[in-house]
Amino acid sequence: CDKFCTFCVVPYTRGGEWSRPAEAILAEARSLAARGVREVTLLGQNVNAWSGEGGLGGLARQLARIEGLDRIRYTTSHPRDMDDDLIAAHAELPQLMPYLHLPVQSGSDRILKAMNRGHTAESYLRLVEKIRAARPDIALSGDFIVGFPGERESDFEATLALVREVGYASAFTFKYSRRPGTPAAAQPGQVDEAVKDERLARLNALVEAQQKAFNAAQEGRVLPVLFEKPGRHPGQLSGRSPYLQAVHCDGPAELIGRIAPVRIDAAARMSLSGTLVAEALPA
Ligand code: SF4
Repeated sequence: CDKFCTFCVVPYTRGGEWSRPAEAILAEARSLAARGVREVTLLGQNVNAWSGEGGLGGLARQLARIEGLDRIRYTTSHPRDMDDDLIAAHAELPQLMPYLHLPVQSGSDRILKAMNRGHTAESYLRLVEKIRAARPDIALSGDFIVGFPGERESDFEATLALVREVGYASAFTFKYSRRPGTPAAAQPGQVDEAVKDERLARLNALVEAQQKAFNAAQEGRVLPVLFEKPGRHPGQLSGRSPYLQAVHCDGPAELIGRIAPVRIDAAARMSLSGTLVAEALPA
């Protein structure tokens, strides 16, 4: 990673950004698809900074042409690298799954500056608007750090306000912890642990409520589920919705590795349960 956020060790431990050639990625994806793989996830720290020809949007379009590859995902993205062409690909390609992990870390511009994030809360919100205009049902997830050095109550409240405005399907929340050798570790204004705990609890309560609401909104819908493995109970299968939710339902093991429609009956915070739609059952 070349971004050097002031709290993060990745640029020091993993080194600079580099991009695998498109041909190597496409060849690997073709070979996986030929072996029955239905979904690929492009992985990278700032995967959307991928600098091959055509950018990540262009790569997604080429992947979408591969026979049998029904689902394409990528993670993790940086807001600064979310370009218009990649956003357009979300509108064009049904294979590009409507789930995007787009970390923002804080809703306070003071803190975002101290973090060296290179974006503001406002620019992030406008970006989310653009992405939702392209793919209205997209589910967003994010990463948040509470208690970054210098974070005041008003900064933390700006984070809560941003979370309320975006409405996340899921989120990963962390208390700031010093990483030796990073600029933030030496910054004055380190926040008291008890304050961090209290802020984390408030943020978690909000994101958990949003996650629950997002899952509850799926009740009654029929979702295509890619079945991955047997469920915990005999006769049960476990798979993923397009929004990356875990889905459980009863069904035959032959469906593992295939996509089938499931009517969602009930939602919990971490998973959905449903009933296989009859026409999905093998004859
Ligand atoms: S938080 Fe992400 S973007 Fe920032 S330096 Fe670490 S890996 Fe790079």
